Amino acid sequence: MKITRVETFLVPPRWLFCRVETDEGLLGWGEPVIEGRAQSVRAAVHELAEVLIGADPLRIEDHWQVMTKGGFYRGGPVLASAVAGLDQALWDIAGKARGVPVHELLGGPVREYVRAYAWIGGDEPEQLREEAQRQVEAGFSAVKMNASGRMSPIAGPGELDAVVARVAAAREALGPGRDVAVDFHGRVSYPNARRLLTLLEPLAPMFVEEPVVPESMAQVRSLVEASNIPIALGERLYSRWDFLPAMQAGVAVAQPDLSHAGGISEVRRIAAQAEVFGALLAPHCPLGPISLAASLQVAFATPNFLIQEQSIGIHYNDGNELLDYLVDPAVFSFTDGRLARPVGAGLGIVVDEARVREADRRGHNWRSPIWRYPDDSFAEW
Ligand SMILES: [Mg+2]
Repeated sequence: MKITRVETFLVPPRWLFCRVETDEGLLGWGEPVIEGRAQSVRAAVHELAEVLIGADPLRIEDHWQVMTKGGFYRGGPVLASAVAGLDQALWDIAGKARGVPVHELLGGPVREYVRAYAWIGGDEPEQLREEAQRQVEAGFSAVKMNASGRMSPIAGPGELDAVVARVAAAREALGPGRDVAVDFHGRVSYPNARRLLTLLEPLAPMFVEEPVVPESMAQVRSLVEASNIPIALGERLYSRWDFLPAMQAGVAVAQPDLSHAGGISEVRRIAAQAEVFGALLAPHCPLGPISLAASLQVAFATPNFLIQEQSIGIHYNDGNELLDYLVDPAVFSFTDGRLARPVGAGLGIVVDEARVREADRRGHNWRSPIWRYPDDSFAEW
């Protein structure tokens, strides 16, 4: 079997898909994207395709090595995301070639279902209480929330209290038997993060995510030690080498993104590295259906998996939904906030190719919002 063609599709709301074709008619799908830089990743995918055209798609690890390291310069979001999407597509082909889901190739299932959380949003505690209640009624046992918008670098008591009030409102709706995770999104300054961790401790969040921006790795250890709340991060780390200092700093939950961190091949290794440090895997996935499918394949085969992010029905998927691009969206239907084991070959989904081609003709130009402080200086989103 040889790879004959690699195509990319820029699909709303903000994703990029790739399709790898072989001379035996088997197809693999991947989702190589960095949100807001889809066009840059697209260019990288087509550059890397030179490695793949004419090659055996089943030599996944060799292709991963060459694509990741063969350009001499390596790492970073654009390259690692391009490799990630192509790696997903190669695993999809490998599963289809053998007639099994990818997790069977990764050692077989280690669990019967995958627990997922739902996002809740809102500025006012009342709104968050209602949204949390709605997710409880939908069957979810965990939710995640941002808890703060733009914050002053040294927040006053009113700003700090507002964050605590929002998390408290969610906790109230959830009760002690469900979980709330809080994403600081790298938008909370180091001094604010330290204070908030102490203030949030009585509400027992499942974890606090990205307490600081990823380049502030030197501060992570002191944030781990600031409270007993488990610290999560990793959506902006792209390899096991990037993750090592986070693990050494005592991060409890590793959150690589299947579409950013070198795909299924590398996320498996990041999970194994996390296991050495007693940390758990919670794949980041506010992305599309292929990325979620790849996440699930890893989740079902990974012993130290914790919980899965997903963005079905989320507010920013404006115009197009994750389920729109699938022939049978039932593979992502939740029962009690859980996803069942996909049994289809490869990634376990059937992409609606006509829909994808049509969506690519519209394309998108999604960008991260730019936030500013009242004095017009840049603020982290
Ligand atoms: Mg996050």
